[in-house]
Amino acid sequence: MVPSELRPALAPAVILVAAALAVWGGPSLPASLSGLRTLGPYAVLAVGVAFALRFNRGRALILLGSLLAAYAGYHYAQGLGGFAEKAVYTALVVLVPLNALVAMTLPERGVAYHGSYRWLVLLGVEALLILWIAAAGRSSLSGLAWQGVLEHWLFRSPPTPLAGRLLFGAAFAAAVWRAWPKHTPLDIGLAAALAAFFIAAEWAASPAAFAAFLCAAGAVVLVAFVQESHRLAFRDELTGLPGRRALDEQLRALGPRYTIAMIDVDHFKKFNDTHGHDIGDQVLKLVAARLAEVGGGGVAFRYGGEEFSVLFAGKSLKEALPYLENTREAVERYKMAVRSDERPRQQEAGIRRRGDSVPTKLLSVTVSMGAAEPEFERQPPSQVLKAADEALYRAKKGGRNRVST
Ligand code: GH3
Ligand code: MG
Ligand code: MG
Repeated sequence: MVPSELRPALAPAVILVAAALAVWGGPSLPASLSGLRTLGPYAVLAVGVAFALRFNRGRALILLGSLLAAYAGYHYAQGLGGFAEKAVYTALVVLVPLNALVAMTLPERGVAYHGSYRWLVLLGVEALLILWIAAAGRSSLSGLAWQGVLEHWLFRSPPTPLAGRLLFGAAFAAAVWRAWPKHTPLDIGLAAALAAFFIAAEWAASPAAFAAFLCAAGAVVLVAFVQESHRLAFRDELTGLPGRRALDEQLRALGPRYTIAMIDVDHFKKFNDTHGHDIGDQVLKLVAARLAEVGGGGVAFRYGGEEFSVLFAGKSLKEALPYLENTREAVERYKMAVRSDERPRQQEAGIRRRGDSVPTKLLSVTVSMGAAEPEFERQPPSQVLKAADEALYRAKKGGRNRVST
């Protein structure tokens, strides 16, 4: 199987390979469908732009908008021939990665950010610049200066001029840097879309290859949006665990034998009140991390707030209990270092003391667990979950930091 770290990169890889096969390996489109080749990139990229607007993703909007404009520019230039065609091509393969680089460097602020009008100004200036360069040699106004610029080694093509390659490299590195920490599908998709456009630019002499790889760039981002919406719906942002919705789905697919455990952090309200909400969140993360390592085939979910569930599909209560007991002990053993003078108020005001002189305190938390298995065949999982909740209540009553059945 593919390691989970690499899984988000799988779809882009498949799409890029498919595009390459379509261009260099597959049969060519019948004449009646050749319009598809021209219109395909417009359709895919336009849908991508619509998704970026709907999902409020500024970086995706800039990249897909630039690609859409680049494809339109490529089309426009094809009819011109000679210097104008080359000039437009050069401008496109320099400006698209430039936009991508700027977008990747700036923080993601969404589409509705009040400073976004500056992007409109930039894209407008770029469009005018391209039209002006394309007109060089045809009007005395623009003169021959642009011809000289295009002969410069930095901008000389084909295929992609050095300036374009350098900008591509920088933009791609920035995109990978953005995607690295969390492996979110959309960040990976944007890096892959840039790679697709780079391939398109290198083979721009072939309209079929250019169109296919622009299609691929759009498709990669569309798939990433679908994966992203799945992630938003099923993953809990704070802990990275699957959420309640994912648990509900798993419960519907269970066989006759399974065990459900409900887990609740002990005295968490007091912990929050004493150390602040941020430290409280850190506790939730550490509890989630221990639960994710429960073992025995158990899958951990964040049920909501400071409550978690672990589902053991195919395991009886007796088989699952040792794993739960080990996890309870692992949480109890874990010591979290926090500054002992930290009070919630100070933290909220953003007052931070630096340096080693600040005394630290080791905190630990405990969790209570309740576990249950179906009592009879075809007992609805919701009832088993309720039984686990009642067992959890008994664990709390019995003094907390224990597993009850
Ligand atoms: P018990 O041992 O009986 O479970 O006591 P408790 O204080 O943990 O129980 P209770 O359910 O009364 O309190 C839960 C608290 O968890 C309430 C709320 O302040 C806190 N909480 C819920 N969700 C979050 C969250 O996402 N982050 C943080 N920091 N606190 C949360
Ligand atoms: Mg609770
Ligand atoms: Mg609690």
